Amino acid sequence: MKSVKENFQKAHIVIIGSGIIGKFNALELSEIGFQITIIDPNQLENSSNAALGLLMGNMYQKRRGRSWDLRKKSIELWPKWIEFLQKFNHELNIERPLIQLTTNEDKFKKLEKFIYNMNDINLRILERDSVFIKNINKAFQTKNIKGMISIKDGRINAKSLLKTLDLYLKNKKINFLQEEVIKIRKSNNQWISTTSNNEDIKSDIVLLCNSLKTINLIDNRSHNIKLKPVLGQAIEIDINDAQVDLLSLPKQFNIDGKNIIPKSKNKLIIGSTDEYSTKPKENIFEELTNFLDKKPMWLTKGKISKKWYGVRAKPDGQPSPIIKNLEDGLIICTGFYKNGILLAPACSRWVANEIKNYLA
Ligand SMILES: Cc1cc2nc3c(=O)[nH]c(=O)nc-3n(C[C@H](O)[C@H](O)[C@H](O)COP(=O)(O)OP(=O)(O)OC[C@H]3O[C@@H](n4cnc5c(N)ncnc54)[C@H](O)[C@@H]3O)c2cc1C
Repeated sequence: MKSVKENFQKAHIVIIGSGIIGKFNALELSEIGFQITIIDPNQLENSSNAALGLLMGNMYQKRRGRSWDLRKKSIELWPKWIEFLQKFNHELNIERPLIQLTTNEDKFKKLEKFIYNMNDINLRILERDSVFIKNINKAFQTKNIKGMISIKDGRINAKSLLKTLDLYLKNKKINFLQEEVIKIRKSNNQWISTTSNNEDIKSDIVLLCNSLKTINLIDNRSHNIKLKPVLGQAIEIDINDAQVDLLSLPKQFNIDGKNIIPKSKNKLIIGSTDEYSTKPKENIFEELTNFLDKKPMWLTKGKISKKWYGVRAKPDGQPSPIIKNLEDGLIICTGFYKNGILLAPACSRWVANEIKNYLA
């Protein structure tokens, strides 16, 4: 009888989709010793490349259920994986802290109650005289911004993360096929993934990480999985005002749902929108800068220097994400909606445990 380790080394896993979820699963599974093939026709133009990379883990207010369990696991795993990946890119890091702000009194009261109930030194209300609040009020010419700081949360630069994962996968000599999978089927206990070039790739396991398009590859009637496309847009704005230094602001913060990342003294990123659509909007500047009753002049006069978008998969009728064993050797890991970067480590660990149990 073969040992469990031999089974792992011999088992071949095909990962369909090479966004953050496909790549992160490849990392986790290849560290265990599996043979991996990743297939993706267009890995540079997916939702992962559009992500702002905020990790809203410990500031999540619902502290029970699967969603919280996944967040908690990811908060624990991220620093370990970053330390590991720094061997391939020493600049990769988690920028901390993350600041959540509001101008709405009711929302602030909810935050205060949450912080009081948590009694966690990593979560604090920002006092009016804190340097963060002072600098935000000065830059945005506001008086009524309030909020909390989460020391454990932060941001990973998503593009840098994807590039680092590519370096790791190249170093490990992981097979990569730049093709689209058009069909999967099972024959003689093996999975066969057929590509658009009519190539058949055999494997013991297929892992579906191809976001919205997973439903094209599975028999949807028996699995009853529905995904909706949700557009996310972001812009980079250039400002021209010598009085304002955007680097005096926190490294990443959120004001009433808009994520803000100062990039330099006169450049900042704002994202992201959230609507059931796949087509970017024209009046995006207005929509992304309307988080205050009155905009400061430097923001009104700001010019878009870059804009981009991504289409995220939101599960319809069940919570996000969908991580499931669909049948023997077929696992789905999709529907990450707004939190693919945050949840990648926890979900990849879940998938690895499923595969280990299946092969043991
Ligand atoms: C503007 C914006 C900001 C965001 N900010 C954050 C954030 O701050 N924090 C956070 O955690 N998340 C954020 N997200 C969400 C995050 O980007 C997604 O949850 C995540 O990228 C989902 O990753 P994925 O790998 O499932 O999908 P994708 O990145 O979309 O990758 C799916 C891949 O599957 C491939 N594929 C599709 N069909 C096939 C096929 N038939 N055969 C082979 N390959 C196929 C595609 O080519 C694609 O490369 C943001 C998203 C957007 C758009």
